[in-house]
Amino acid sequence: MNSSCVLLNGDYTFLCLLDWKKAMKLVFAGKVTILKYSDKLIRSVSGVFRMPTVLVLMKMVRSVYKRRVPFSKKNLLLRDRSACAYCGKSGKTLTIDHVIPKSKGGKTNFDNCVVCCQGCNHRKGSGTPRQAGMRLIKRPYQPTISEFVRIRLEQSGVYDLLADIGIC
Ligand SMILES: [Zn+2]
Repeated sequence: MNSSCVLLNGDYTFLCLLDWKKAMKLVFAGKVTILKYSDKLIRSVSGVFRMPTVLVLMKMVRSVYKRRVPFSKKNLLLRDRSACAYCGKSGKTLTIDHVIPKSKGGKTNFDNCVVCCQGCNHRKGSGTPRQAGMRLIKRPYQPTISEFVRIRLEQSGVYDLLADIGIC
């Protein structure tokens, strides 16, 4: 991990990453509680400190993280971790599948679209999953920005740290 700190909101949801200097300002201003320290030391005129890695705000702040992620193929791939919603296969030839087909009134949004491999897409044809005898591994849903941040955290390793202290 680098020298950035994780800042959690008052309800322990992820808020943002901070560099340690900003983090220390919040600590000295009494606005945060330190949940976890790193092994790194900070030397300053007033002494040596251990660098915090996870901080939680004393008060809740409203954040943009509860907002909905706009629909796009790129965002759909991110939500579904680039894996087919029917067989779990990942690869480069993934397409967007409308669970309820467009011809049957299915909408192009996060609640009706999943990532699908070519094989499953072909098998499903223009029917519903039930008609094709197929099952979704995971139901489609509208993700929030906070979930997308969490996916990025999983990829960066910060998630492991939060899971370690029982937050995620
Ligand atoms: Zn598939």
